[in-house]
Amino acid sequence: MSTIYHIVQFEDGSAYLMFDVCNWRCSYCIRNVSGWCTSLPEATIKTLNRIEHKYINIDELLKILKENGVKLAFLGGGEPTQDPELKGIMRLLKENGIDSWLITNGELLDEEIFQLSKGITFSIKAIDEAKHIKLTGRSNRRVLNNYQRFGNDEKVVAETVYYPNIIGCEEVQKIAEFVHSVNPRARFRIDPAVQLRDKSGLKDCVEKIRLIHENTYYFDFAGKSKPPKLLYPKI
Ligand code: SF4
Repeated sequence: MSTIYHIVQFEDGSAYLMFDVCNWRCSYCIRNVSGWCTSLPEATIKTLNRIEHKYINIDELLKILKENGVKLAFLGGGEPTQDPELKGIMRLLKENGIDSWLITNGELLDEEIFQLSKGITFSIKAIDEAKHIKLTGRSNRRVLNNYQRFGNDEKVVAETVYYPNIIGCEEVQKIAEFVHSVNPRARFRIDPAVQLRDKSGLKDCVEKIRLIHENTYYFDFAGKSKPPKLLYPKI
């Protein structure tokens, strides 16, 4: 049994699998806003809010992904690397022609998980250790060591969350300098915190960061994406 409790499928056919584990305590974590995919229609989320998280068994997981023609699965949540079943799930997906794209804080990333991943979104929350501990409850030493170990591979996308007063553009700049020192060509994505209402500073910040690290980008989802399809749980 894994800790996967929620699956949605996007317009391009890829799926997002949410794991119900993480012992970090990031104040801006999306899980503090909703345990369900926030892109689902409001009415669906309201219905889901009335039910408890129920972990899917592996056979059912595979059946659902196959029935819906999924070829790429994003593994997020939550922190998938904290699920003891992760490697087994990734192996099983691979054997069945489904690629895994891991979304991780990087602390527990290891060689086997790295090899099993088609791609990795590697989130670096802060460079300043005191800030990192304040934000997440954890030191960032293993995270930074792991980024130095794996970040030079083109399948790794560096990411951070922009949330002024907690992680503002100055800290993002330090992260960009670190990413650049490991791999000057790395893709570096800046996401606004889900709680951030006024996103006007984000674009300016991205422009500044591009002077340090050219391959920096952000997504502007406003009004563009269709809600995903709910695959699990069934309601
Ligand atoms: S590491 Fe990720 S899942 Fe865990 S608390 Fe932080 S943002 Fe949330």
